Amino acid sequence: MTHVFHRYPKQTMPVAKAGIGMELIDSNGKHYIDACGGAAVSCLGHGHPRVIEAIRTQINQLAYAHTSFFTTDVAEELADNLSASAPGDLNHVYFLSGGSEAIEAALKLARQYHVETGQKSRRHFIARRQSYHGNTLGALAIGGNAWRREAFLPLLVPSHHVAPCYAYRDQLRGESDAQYTQRLADELEAKILELGADEVAAFVAETVVGATAGAVPPVGDYFKKIRAVCDKYGVLLILDEVMSGMGRTGYLYACEEDGIVPDILVIAKGLGAGYQPIGAMISSDRIYNAVVGGSGFFQHGHTYIGHATACAAALAVQKTIKEEQLLPNVLARGEQLRATLRSAFANHPHVGDVRGRGLFVGVELVADRDSKQPLDPVKRTHSRVKSEAMARGLLVYPMGGTVDGRQGDHILIAPPFISTAADIDRIVERLVPAVDAAL
Ligand code: PLP
Repeated sequence: MTHVFHRYPKQTMPVAKAGIGMELIDSNGKHYIDACGGAAVSCLGHGHPRVIEAIRTQINQLAYAHTSFFTTDVAEELADNLSASAPGDLNHVYFLSGGSEAIEAALKLARQYHVETGQKSRRHFIARRQSYHGNTLGALAIGGNAWRREAFLPLLVPSHHVAPCYAYRDQLRGESDAQYTQRLADELEAKILELGADEVAAFVAETVVGATAGAVPPVGDYFKKIRAVCDKYGVLLILDEVMSGMGRTGYLYACEEDGIVPDILVIAKGLGAGYQPIGAMISSDRIYNAVVGGSGFFQHGHTYIGHATACAAALAVQKTIKEEQLLPNVLARGEQLRATLRSAFANHPHVGDVRGRGLFVGVELVADRDSKQPLDPVKRTHSRVKSEAMARGLLVYPMGGTVDGRQGDHILIAPPFISTAADIDRIVERLVPAVDAAL
């Protein structure tokens, strides 16, 4: 009998014993290619000597100091590093211990900004139906995943949702990219006007959708139009790059590719690459100055914010990505992965879409490729793919999102940035029979 309250108490999990590069090894000595890094976390693979050494050095010197009393050299250097590479005037980095915490902080900062600037009526948050922003109550309140929210609805503050940018399912036949993105921007504008133009605090979106639908990138100028609508009504734009940020798309910040700068950017997973739990919220000069020049104090905080050892790990991860110039490899291997998957599944009746950016790749499974009819949700095909892949020594991340009442089966593939061309081929070689066995 285990005394661990496992997330899936009825399942017996293998015991992870070791991690080396691309692979995890269990207590039976079985090797798994880690093609998803947990949930797009382990971007440098496992056991990276430089990161381990940085953690060891930091712990020997100072493991932790509370941020009410001190700052640390590593927190300062990491913040300098992140703000120097972030787009626009995203210059102020607030550290947290993970993605949900960072989203909570972003929601509170947006609200506090409006209070500080005399706009107390701004209290509504608008997000998208196809979204996941975390499991804490504030993050869950704005998220769009019906299954995750359902039991907790009485605890969630009301939030408001508009359509996601999900071209595979929602772009109409004959509708150009420009027409489609205009339709989505118009819907956001209509929602802001419905709620009251001076009552909306912020619009929150994942730059590339992760956990609800497997790496769905925005179409064309979607975010430019969204940015313009937000600006027109004084609504802040919060981009959630917990999964898609920190190089996962081949750009350090995914929104660089979209040519826009949010007011607040949220990052986590790849920031510490799984070596330590860390997330961050990066705010623009305007937001930061309003708080510092107003009350002078951000009304928020946790015990472990700015944790020195977590910052040391993240700093080593970020230096490695930069100095080893891994982002061009993310772009090249991502192209290879999508091309290889498209060719392997070219005539597969149940593979509806292969998509993504960089090494952030999604496969959508359907009952019928032509009609795009989803698979029977009772069969939980995404979970079966996970099990069949594990049996073949491969880790991919399964997702069964519900969007507008539609259940979808998706597989997320997010291998480490150090993947070689041969690694990508091995991933596809194991995934193809796993998908066939699961259907
Ligand atoms: N936002 C996005 C886009 C995510 O994918 C996740 C986690 O999967 C979160 C927020 C929550 O992050 P965490 O699980 O670190 O709390």
